[in-house]
Amino acid sequence: MKIAVLAGDGIGPEITAQAVRVLQALAAGGLDIHLESALVGGAAVDVCGDPLPAETLRVCESADAILFGAVGGPRYDTLPRAQRPEQGLLRLRKHFDLFANLRPAVVYPELAHASTLKAEVVAGLDLLILRELTGDIYFGQPRGIRTTESGEREGFDTMRYTESEIRRIAHSAFQAARKRAGRVCSVDKANVLETTQFWRDVVTEVHRDYPDVALSHMYVDNAAMQLIRNPKQFDVIVTGNMFGDILSDEASMLTGSIGMLPSASLNAKGFGMYEPIHGSAPDIAGRDVANPLATILSAAMLLRYSLDQAAAADRIEAAVRRVLAQGLRTADIADAGAPTIGTRAMGDAVLAALG
Ligand code: NAD
Repeated sequence: MKIAVLAGDGIGPEITAQAVRVLQALAAGGLDIHLESALVGGAAVDVCGDPLPAETLRVCESADAILFGAVGGPRYDTLPRAQRPEQGLLRLRKHFDLFANLRPAVVYPELAHASTLKAEVVAGLDLLILRELTGDIYFGQPRGIRTTESGEREGFDTMRYTESEIRRIAHSAFQAARKRAGRVCSVDKANVLETTQFWRDVVTEVHRDYPDVALSHMYVDNAAMQLIRNPKQFDVIVTGNMFGDILSDEASMLTGSIGMLPSASLNAKGFGMYEPIHGSAPDIAGRDVANPLATILSAAMLLRYSLDQAAAADRIEAAVRRVLAQGLRTADIADAGAPTIGTRAMGDAVLAALG
């Protein structure tokens, strides 16, 4: 099994290096994985003027999954749009049709106090938000700003989902739930929006193939409230692009630490790109202070969802838990005045805890 490693810019190379060390340790222990690195983002622009060079795309196409660091930085903000580092990311999503965005929100008991919510509300939280990434009102046509017959200006967008788009994300949700606690909550606004009534109908139809998974439905306004009131009631939440955009950011803040959160974007074949939810953090790049755990946990997701190596994924996640229980902290998750360790030392600690 081959993994393409695209480290990118800013803290990308530092944090990705630690995830690579963890994957290499598993490979040395007998896991059949091979890693191949390639340039992306500003790092690729510097070398060949293109944030996603043909050679990088070739490496990704020959791989089973992509581990991605982060791209971007102030140096590139004035480039023409096609050469901006983020285009590398967007083109990869489009090229591989990565329509399912998975964002787990896990609160380790030791870090529960980092949340703005009461520790007892979030401690032990382990929820997965699945957001449809390529459809909905963000892409629906027609859209625009026009002048009506009465001479008033109006803005308009079109919310739409095809049956096949809903089916494939519903399948992803039920399959993800099978690897977790077996419960899916589909979030919509079926009481007001036709598109989302259709969403609810199709999700219910797809559910017939998954009798072992429990399905519930919730209106998005209630879901936003329940995520704050009692987030531990959820296992997998599946929803459309716009509701998912908002709810996944809300859920990530339940944890209170951006350096801890991995993500995945998958296509229908299970091929995926795995990356921390944070960016390239130019303010701390090159100082060995960035938290590598979100990237290390992204590597665990990669093993679980694209390579079907649940045992190896469990090992990484257990090692991260052990390191946190030992009290080891990078600066972003440390209490004020408490001792901290650097990026590489955190990588060392996870390697030691792998056992
Ligand atoms: P950011 O996520 O890079 O940083 C936000 C804050 O969180 C900063 O203070 C940063 O130091 C801190 N932070 C982020 N990751 C951390 C980590 N692992 N450990 C410790 N602290 C961490 O967001 P930003 O500052 O808005 O954007 C910086 C650059 O990243 C921009 O060029 C932006 O376009 C890019 N970006 C890239 C991605 C991506 O590659 N997927 C995502 C978001 C932003």
